[in-house]
Amino acid sequence: MESIILESMKEVYSTAQDMAKRGFVAGTSGNCSARVPGTDMVVITPTSVEYELMLFEDMCVVNLRGEEVASRYTPSIEINMHLGIYRARDDIGGIVHTHQPMGTAVALSSDGIPPILDEQMARIMGGIEVAEYAFPGTKELADNAVKALGEKNACLLLHHGVVSTGKKVRDALLNAEIVERAATVFIMSRVLGEPRTIPISPEEFNKAVPHA
Ligand SMILES: [Zn+2]
Repeated sequence: MESIILESMKEVYSTAQDMAKRGFVAGTSGNCSARVPGTDMVVITPTSVEYELMLFEDMCVVNLRGEEVASRYTPSIEINMHLGIYRARDDIGGIVHTHQPMGTAVALSSDGIPPILDEQMARIMGGIEVAEYAFPGTKELADNAVKALGEKNACLLLHHGVVSTGKKVRDALLNAEIVERAATVFIMSRVLGEPRTIPISPEEFNKAVPHA
């Protein structure tokens, strides 16, 4: 197998392990993927393989049309959502889908996370929207996630979890961590009252703070 594909398989495998270590996924839930640079191929975690038992060579390789290129296992059931996001956004090279508790909780009782943290402005590009509900693994969920994501780097899936994106799959995991912190801070500040939000757009913020 080409070394560029092997490199992407290693990145996806190590990110999947780190998602599990952070408590963002458990058992076989959640999934992550990376676009193989300069190709129409995507590496994604397999379905129904526990993180602790997963090997790097178990990562699945598919093309952007969803056809399997090389896999010893079936790709994650959320393959439609990953491919839908890659097709809609050329700038995205990695996706992490987690069942992280705070991000999941905040979607249940709010319209998402407003822009409250500087790091949210710099990396997520502002407030985080909630995707309309659809069953896991469906084309409908994929469409709803693409819509809620818009031009940002994260969205919440109602009754389900979080999708975070980035230039690489490691960036997507870092963004998932920012979502979890923003969700935690949002929930805690709602206990005290109505949280204040950052009064400028992400574009204005990133112009004023270029290396945030
Ligand atoms: Zn899920």
